[in-house]
Amino acid sequence: KPTVIICIGMAGSGKTSFIQRVNSYIHSNGKAGYLLNLDPAVSQVPFGANIDIRDTVNYKQVMKEYNLGPNGGILTSLNLFTTKFDQVLDFIEKRSKEVDYILLDTPGQIEIFTWSASGAIITDTLAASYPTVVAYIIDTPRSTSPATFMSNMLYACSIMYKTKLPFVIVFNKTDVVSHDFAVEWMTDYESFQNALQDNTTYMGSLINSMCLMLEEFYNSLKVSGVSAVTGEGMDEFFDILKDSVKEYETEYKPELERMI
Ligand code: GDP
Ligand code: MG
Repeated sequence: KPTVIICIGMAGSGKTSFIQRVNSYIHSNGKAGYLLNLDPAVSQVPFGANIDIRDTVNYKQVMKEYNLGPNGGILTSLNLFTTKFDQVLDFIEKRSKEVDYILLDTPGQIEIFTWSASGAIITDTLAASYPTVVAYIIDTPRSTSPATFMSNMLYACSIMYKTKLPFVIVFNKTDVVSHDFAVEWMTDYESFQNALQDNTTYMGSLINSMCLMLEEFYNSLKVSGVSAVTGEGMDEFFDILKDSVKEYETEYKPELERMI
């Protein structure tokens, strides 16, 4: 059975580049990918998408027709696409014997996918049929300040608890800044406190107490550092992915079967 990788992350974090990199990595290992673009507002998709939301809905026309702004346009486009998701599942099913990985690129506006009914329907229906893992892509060079780092982690935390799926944090752009600082902050509470040391404001103490709460989240988390541009870290990412698929089989799947 193919593994589904749902790529989620802030605009510009490198979701599209990461998918492109993953796709070329699996090809060089003799494996096949099936690629879905779910971003209706993107002007160009650098990988050859097998299924592209833009073939089904015209985002600009949706905005005009329903008199919507950009975010409403993206959400409505995703909703229209989701009404046909059973057909998408059929396409995937037909190819599932020769495909090893199914890669999902999600809209640039992260909350449109993570907090909409459509995003939940797409995630849950895929996870009901295939081992599914969320890859949360982070722009490492833009997360080096403790406050930004913390807010990014809180967002990741909320998405993990919402999807309940195996969750891999992918620190991207390690060709620019290594993710070592992040690993240190996540494994050694004191080092994060030290980074906050001269921060005596209200924000500082708030972040400090949230950090304690996040310790548990960090423990259930898998972390990987990659560069979508150079390809460094991909071997490690795929090792972690293997563990995540095991986690899906042992934790998510039994839970799902109990609910059915
Ligand atoms: P998306 O909005 O999350 O899909 O992000 P994109 O894949 O479009 O990437 C956003 C920007 O970051 C582009 O200019 C990419 O070239 C750049 N980028 C993505 N991954 C990397 C990386 O690993 N290293 C560097 N240096 N730049 C990257
Ligand atoms: Mg993109």
